[in-house]
Amino acid sequence: MNNFNLYVPTRILFGQGQIAGIAKQVPAGARVLVTYGGGSVLANGVMAQVREALGERLVAEFGGIEPNPDYATLMRAVALGREQAIDFVLAVGGGSVADGSKFIVAAMPYEGDPWELLTGQGKVKSAVPLGVVLTLAATGSEMNSGAVISRRETGDKLYFGSEKVFPRFAVLDPSTLFSLPPRQTANGVVDAFVHTVEQYLTYPVNAKVQDRMAEGLLLTLIEEGPKVLEQPGDYDARANVMWAATMALNGYLGAGVPQDWSTHMLGHEITAVHGLDHAQTLAIVLPAMLAARRAPKRAKLLQYAERVWGLREGSEDARIDAAIAATRAFFERMGVPTKLSGHAISEPRLDAILAKLQAHGMTQLGEHGDVTLDVSRAVLEAAV
Ligand code: NAP
Ligand code: FE
Repeated sequence: MNNFNLYVPTRILFGQGQIAGIAKQVPAGARVLVTYGGGSVLANGVMAQVREALGERLVAEFGGIEPNPDYATLMRAVALGREQAIDFVLAVGGGSVADGSKFIVAAMPYEGDPWELLTGQGKVKSAVPLGVVLTLAATGSEMNSGAVISRRETGDKLYFGSEKVFPRFAVLDPSTLFSLPPRQTANGVVDAFVHTVEQYLTYPVNAKVQDRMAEGLLLTLIEEGPKVLEQPGDYDARANVMWAATMALNGYLGAGVPQDWSTHMLGHEITAVHGLDHAQTLAIVLPAMLAARRAPKRAKLLQYAERVWGLREGSEDARIDAAIAATRAFFERMGVPTKLSGHAISEPRLDAILAKLQAHGMTQLGEHGDVTLDVSRAVLEAAV
């Protein structure tokens, strides 16, 4: 196991009825800005519970944060937050609202051009405290310190991270997921699955705890994923998927092990160029990425084949092929296509995607830094 330094300060309030608990978590006398997306939280009753819990602390609401939150939208929230002397932000929604709000709380006190926080030219020195009421199990953003922000004006989708933007608390009430459309339910399962794989399917470092946690999460998602699609109101299935998605990216799985993330980096550029959902890009890239890198990932692919898919028969190569095929079949069963051609894209713009990767310095990706632009091109070509 590699050395690690793990810090995860987010309090989790888990279960039905826990939204009321934010009354105790947000300081008395706070001036709260509530952020949300396109309105699902108004329709499903989540916002009503939030308003009730906050009472007079609720100073302003900012809606309209879009999937793949946009820099220009977020900058309007930053202006509102400054104008209203906001000292607490409560994000109510999915990963996009959580991520966007992380940027808002970092940008509000930032003295330079907040774009610098995303290009790496600026550092987060302080942030307004943040809480999250999660309504989509997928990203893990509710319990981590990272965020991905898009800027449609320039075609960029960039990551930033800082301990200062860890949510102080996150409410995970599985019953808020009942209203999710199937596409978002499926996206969430795929995103959590790929987060787990990016931290598990690298090379062995004898980290048994992390390996078995990862395998437990993958098995849970494989079992419960189809259930939440078929029975959207199954509380226990929703609860298991919700906690799995949080655990998949709250730092515990990735502590002390190599991490890949090449599928995510390639996926972000596909979203920037073609506008696909985050998880839709991952389902396209991951099977092709695993196939392209079967040599450096061989030992872990065999472990994955056996422990996650129960594949013990046949040659090693046959088991690896079967494990990759099973991964693909699982995504397809969730209704998420695993080829670019499965989406209505008339002309795949591979050169544009590769140019963005290059411009963002993504030329040595993966746990060995060996995912060069040539490897990325081969993966994209295989994924068309
Ligand atoms: P999302 O973009 O937050 O939401 C997708 C859609 O789901 C929205 O249209 C939203 O509608 C709807 N929705 C959310 N909750 C709902 C509910 N309970 N009922 C009905 N509809 C609901 O999806 P996401 O997958 O959670 O987040 C994706 C973003 O997170 C991407 O930008 C991705 O790159 C990023 N990401 C971040 C991390 C991280 O660690 N920070 C990791 C992976 C991905 P409304 O807008 O109307 O609410
Ligand atoms: Fe993701």
